[in-house]
Amino acid sequence: MAASVLDGKVAAAEVRAGVAASVAELRAAGRRVPGLAVVLVGGDPASQVYVAAKVKHTHEVGMHSVERMLPAETSEAQLFDEIARLNADPAVDGILVQLPLPAGLDSQRVLDAIDPRKDVDGFHPVNVGRLSLGLPALEPCTPRGCVILAKRARADLAGLHAVIVGRSNIVGKPLAQLLLREHCTVTVAHSRTRDLPAICRQADILIAAIGKPKFLGAEHVKPGAIVIDVGINRIATEAGTRLVGDVDFDAVKDIAGAITPVPGGVGPMTIACLLDNTLTAWRARRQG
Ligand code: NDP
Repeated sequence: MAASVLDGKVAAAEVRAGVAASVAELRAAGRRVPGLAVVLVGGDPASQVYVAAKVKHTHEVGMHSVERMLPAETSEAQLFDEIARLNADPAVDGILVQLPLPAGLDSQRVLDAIDPRKDVDGFHPVNVGRLSLGLPALEPCTPRGCVILAKRARADLAGLHAVIVGRSNIVGKPLAQLLLREHCTVTVAHSRTRDLPAICRQADILIAAIGKPKFLGAEHVKPGAIVIDVGINRIATEAGTRLVGDVDFDAVKDIAGAITPVPGGVGPMTIACLLDNTLTAWRARRQG
């Protein structure tokens, strides 16, 4: 039987609608609305597209948007100054520094400079630590989006075996924490994992966050599994280029029980969760 397709555009629109409704309530009550600042250093074309989408959605949900477009030759000291200004700005609740940064700028040092209470990407060590301790934290957006989509396939994930392929700090590791919180049994696989197909075939939930086009195929998927494809890979075709995931969708769609497409799966969830995190940050700062 064909897998049900987990539509990230629909799920993301629902998350954004919830955020927009909360922002509208604040506005109607005469409160200051949440503000999201996006910092882009340099002119990387893919980053410019992402930032434009973030700004557009920030406006659409009624939030205050701050954009800081800095030249590629910005020094680390100048970037720290900019972050310090945003940290101190009461109209800004969330700060996002678009990655990757140009060569010569140390991403971790830059992310560490963001006030953890405004770290809507959830990458600051304080938020990473709080998440792993099971404390309230600003949680990374893409992993949050993965969990929301998995729960659309099955509301209660407790007891399921989740296999995550990929152990990056931005996807694989935080996703493992979020799935543990959902009471899944979690396996994190990576490039040194032995017999990856056999491990993946144990998965009730299989998440691919690898960065290799169509890397997981039919031999990796247990019948009925929920398959979440985080990968975004641009491949050449006769007609130009197109985006594909880390999962071979066509090879897997009649084996899986539910599957996310690429594009239109996890991707749209990331910005939606970013906006939701900004609202969370607004609330948390007001609660002290
Ligand atoms: P990284 O390159 O940081 O991590 C890739 C992971 O895949 C590593 O842990 C690596 O293992 C593992 N891996 C590589 N080759 C193999 C292999 N042959 N077998 C098993 N595991 C392997 O990538 P990211 O986590 O940053 O991103 C992963 C994908 O997700 C990319 O396509 C990226 O574009 C996409 N992405 C999508 C987002 C969205 O909004 N939808 C957001 C973020 C990322 P090891 O650690 O051993 O090297």
